[in-house]
Amino acid sequence: MPFPGTGPIWFNGEFVPWDEANVHVMTHALHYGSGVFEGIRCYKTERGPAVFRLDEHVDRMFTSSKIYRMPIPYTPEQIRDAILDTIRRNELESCYIRPLVFRGYGQIGVNPRQCPVEVAIGVWDWGKYLGPEALEKGVNVCVSSWNRAAPNTFPALAKASGNYLNSQLAKMEALENGYEEAIVLDPSGYVSEGSGENIFLIKDEGIITPPSSTSILPGITRHSVIVLARELGYEVVKRQVPRETLYIADELFFTGTAAEVTPIATVDRIPVGEGKRGPMTEAIQEAFFAILREERKIATTG
Ligand code: PMP
Repeated sequence: MPFPGTGPIWFNGEFVPWDEANVHVMTHALHYGSGVFEGIRCYKTERGPAVFRLDEHVDRMFTSSKIYRMPIPYTPEQIRDAILDTIRRNELESCYIRPLVFRGYGQIGVNPRQCPVEVAIGVWDWGKYLGPEALEKGVNVCVSSWNRAAPNTFPALAKASGNYLNSQLAKMEALENGYEEAIVLDPSGYVSEGSGENIFLIKDEGIITPPSSTSILPGITRHSVIVLARELGYEVVKRQVPRETLYIADELFFTGTAAEVTPIATVDRIPVGEGKRGPMTEAIQEAFFAILREERKIATTG
């Protein structure tokens, strides 16, 4: 599939044409995974394009870069403005936004500090990540043979490029075996998350999601869904989830910027509940999409 983007990219403070936003092959990040990034969505609304929780995404990118001692040579406000400018320049009504901070060209060697910290922001038109039918029918997933990294190896709270090598292994394995997505367990064998999504379980009308101690990226969509579900009157708890709980859940769903709120139909070919989207997942989806259409407001704390 050709890459869907073509418009200007914000690259180190300037707009450059899509085809000219290039780096040297000796760029540090290419060799050593030294990058942090965000995935953000901008939705079409009656007031024009609106970015979903921009401040939280920019904050997380600064958190990720702090963990990796990769000082971003711009303020959060400059990055927010650059993101909004890039959307305007690309004249898109809705889009996916990819800001990337990386160690550039300077020296090859594990120590990154001789390499400049560079920033790029690209945007492009992007549909439904797990396919247009997934939001209604749900996806078929497996439990990966790969585990997430232990907390003292690759910090999960940083959305770092290198972390996605693990995600790629899980995703490729799932696709090779005929599944659409993988659920990955943490190093102790508890459920962690999908290759690029958080996971929620519904059992006996209670909602459970794995806590941040289980090697998850604490998703911004996850946070929104926790707040929303509580507003809808559901009880939500963060606690460890043993693998077999997946097989006996009434409903399961993924959350993420790309996946939004996607039901899970089967796990390891075992139907979740009735093997289709359940009523609580549907209620949460509806409330979530009402926010995106600006028909409902969400509290940003909780
Ligand atoms: N976990 C991982 C590993 C991810 O890549 C993502 C996507 N950023 C998520 C969870 C969901 O996070 P968010 O809701 O902030 O997109």
